[in-house]
Amino acid sequence: MTKEALYGKDINELLDVTHHLGLPGFSAKQIAGWLYRHEISSIDEMTNIPKKIREVLASEYEIGIYPPDSFVESSDGTKKYLFKVRNGKYIETAYIPEKGRATVCVSTQAGCRMGCRFCMTGKQGFQGNLSAGEILNQIRSINEFRKITNVVYMGMGEPLDNLPEVVKSLDILTSEWGYGWSPTRITVSTVGISGSIGSFLQQTRVHLAVSLHTPFPGERLKLIPVEKTSPVGDIIQQIRQAGIKGQRRISFEYILFRGFNDSSAHVNELARLLNGIRCRVNLIRFHKVPGLDYESPDIEEIKKFRDKLNSKGIIATIRASRGEDINAACGLLSTLSLNKNQE
Ligand code: SF4
Repeated sequence: MTKEALYGKDINELLDVTHHLGLPGFSAKQIAGWLYRHEISSIDEMTNIPKKIREVLASEYEIGIYPPDSFVESSDGTKKYLFKVRNGKYIETAYIPEKGRATVCVSTQAGCRMGCRFCMTGKQGFQGNLSAGEILNQIRSINEFRKITNVVYMGMGEPLDNLPEVVKSLDILTSEWGYGWSPTRITVSTVGISGSIGSFLQQTRVHLAVSLHTPFPGERLKLIPVEKTSPVGDIIQQIRQAGIKGQRRISFEYILFRGFNDSSAHVNELARLLNGIRCRVNLIRFHKVPGLDYESPDIEEIKKFRDKLNSKGIIATIRASRGEDINAACGLLSTLSLNKNQE
């Protein structure tokens, strides 16, 4: 019989487990403590829980933490892990060490249904949602777990297309009964889904990054098909309505494509669109993906674009490229593994 994983359950689900097994309610908090505050690998290690209760628990449940399948390491120290999830699909997780911080970039889905033209994951199509446990396992099971300072939900998949499990994983990361992290250590990146963004902003306190890439709807539709049903103007309107509360940071991701979205007209329209929102624009160099003709501007051109935005009162920064020698672009490594498996 396949046992159910405890890892990835929130406090209410753990209470259900204790009720189901006839255990006292306070056991739920004890189990959460072992799952999210200690590095145990078996239920038997939950030593403040009586042995009899551990045996009852272990008869139906397992911890549910599993190691990555493989990894590759870049010359700059970036590591890309490959995890095999349900149905034999692969997901990617990146570990990015930098001076004074170490970031893990997690996936929220196997594949993705958004079909963004510049993204290898989009080319795979949708292969399934990850559970909260599968999202968190990418953080917990890598060797660098104890060094991690920040988590970004920017790997494979669209987080707002898997909202309940993403919100649950954030709850486990930030709750006092869970990992107890500050929400300011976490950023969720989205293309923007009209029906979910308001709910996401209400239910969480983490930072939000919106993939913008051009302020013009017609152009954006050529890059991001979901622009048709979730126009970026509507997304920005919902962000304005929700208000930017507390220490939450809103950023707009902008991959620069030479001759496509790097003109002065783009700078002017960005300044108009983002006027009055406390936010920043992250400029990103385009990583080549097979089968797409776009080119990235060189670093001097990117700096000029940044300076023009800054002169219009928009805070803009250039994101450093990491791990280019290990297929760092989202979805490349898992696509290679998927293809290899299908050979
Ligand atoms: S960029 Fe993100 S939302 Fe778009 S296809 Fe890739 S994984 Fe999906």
